[in-house]
Amino acid sequence: MFFISTRGGERVTGAEAVVKGIAADGGLFVPETFPAVSAEELDAMLGMDYPERAALVLSKYFDDYEKSALTEALRAAYEKFEGDDPAPLVRMDNGMYLLELYHGPTCAFKDMALTVLPYLMRTGCDMLGVDRRILILVATSGDTGKAALEGFRDAEGVDVMVFYPDEGVSKMQKLQMGTQDGENVNVVAVRGNFDDCQAGVKKIFTSEACRKAIEEKGYLLSSANSINFGRLAPQICYYFSAYCDLVSSNQIKMGETVDFAVPTGNFGNILAGYYAKRMGLPVGTLLCASNKNNVLTEFWRTGTYETRRPFYRTMSPSMDILVSSNLERLIFELSGRDAARTQERMRALAETGRYSIATDELKKLKADFYAGCSSEDDTVECIYEFFEEYGYPMDTHTGVAMNVAQRYLEKLNDDPMSEIHPLVVLSTASPYKFPQDVLYALTGNDVKDSFKGVKRIHLLTAMKVPEPIKAVRYKPIRFKTVVSADKMFDEVLKFLQ
Ligand SMILES: *Cc1c(COP(=O)(O)O)cnc(C)c1O
Repeated sequence: MFFISTRGGERVTGAEAVVKGIAADGGLFVPETFPAVSAEELDAMLGMDYPERAALVLSKYFDDYEKSALTEALRAAYEKFEGDDPAPLVRMDNGMYLLELYHGPTCAFKDMALTVLPYLMRTGCDMLGVDRRILILVATSGDTGKAALEGFRDAEGVDVMVFYPDEGVSKMQKLQMGTQDGENVNVVAVRGNFDDCQAGVKKIFTSEACRKAIEEKGYLLSSANSINFGRLAPQICYYFSAYCDLVSSNQIKMGETVDFAVPTGNFGNILAGYYAKRMGLPVGTLLCASNKNNVLTEFWRTGTYETRRPFYRTMSPSMDILVSSNLERLIFELSGRDAARTQERMRALAETGRYSIATDELKKLKADFYAGCSSEDDTVECIYEFFEEYGYPMDTHTGVAMNVAQRYLEKLNDDPMSEIHPLVVLSTASPYKFPQDVLYALTGNDVKDSFKGVKRIHLLTAMKVPEPIKAVRYKPIRFKTVVSADKMFDEVLKFLQ
């Protein structure tokens, strides 16, 4: 399997796509074709555990990696999760399903991929004969940073540097990153929002001068954001696994269509669902759920992606994003894989802050996806009511998706012509990762201290407090640096001294 850039410049192997992270022309790597999972293979997957299912899906893309070693690596990665199943599917009394993706080492769904990426990168470097150290730069709205730090902690031949918006993450997220262990890691807060962090990192990636300076220090630059295909690919697997779980538990028949609702920020998680569909999984509608930063909802409505708009800080910080990087991969598909057109749109986005797609492309977009958004008040209400009704506590991101999903179902129920499919809502973080906001949603009470929030949620819900959350409480804070966005590269150079 080869990978090509969405902007036309390059054709590389899986290992190269992972190690490079982003194409030299600024484009994102996409598979040359979508590999199919046959009906027989899907049947066979029913009898497999999660690592085996994931290996089957991943090896279709990474056929340059040895499959048995890949399976072992996946097994080792998912052993770091609490419980036997890294992605359990939970049925609610109202007939909806929640796919819990937050049982990993940092309590957010980013662990599903970031526990696997180090293997793909290390082995990729070995296959390519890369002998320099790898420098991984991460821009994070909170969860990717911690998951990358934990995933690559003390990994051989790799250093990781994370930038996060100083005022744009939850206290718990800040604490999780600030107390990170490992000799090969660094964390820096940036004055600004997530888009400023992401733009700063992208600038370092695409600047000839920055790259050269990094190379002169003996490093090769790479990425752990979902622009890296090695980050995206492991996320495709849980759509397959959830589907298999629905079949094996007799909730659906093999071949029946299933819808998925995804709380969306950088468009990586939901894009993985689209890839699963293109590989042959019977996926119906993918519900793209946004918070008050509803740039995607507007895009679906109008066909224009417009980033010149106010940026809001919300209680679902991992979705506070105006420029969703992975949308480029979808735009590329909508255009019929027209690299010149994609490049032109990305240039327009960089220069004017907006671009539009054609009517036929918008039609294709609406055939696979539905987009909706949830206000802060509605999200709070949804979390509260869902707990009252079903005794199930959700985090603030999942709350956004649940609210959009419920309204979507109401709309379908009102229309006698509509066909209703089983619906899976992706649960992307533990409620304990956003304790203040979740406690507020559940009780209307504010607490200043994160751990007081954790304790009260526990008393109220009896939900187990994850070990990683307990662990950060008494750890010393190692990283305190705060810089302005134009000083990010200086921090990189300092780190590489
Ligand atoms: C990252 C994240 C999201 C958004 O996922 P994308 O792949 O960026 O769209 C949603 N919820 C949580 C908890 C996250 O950490």
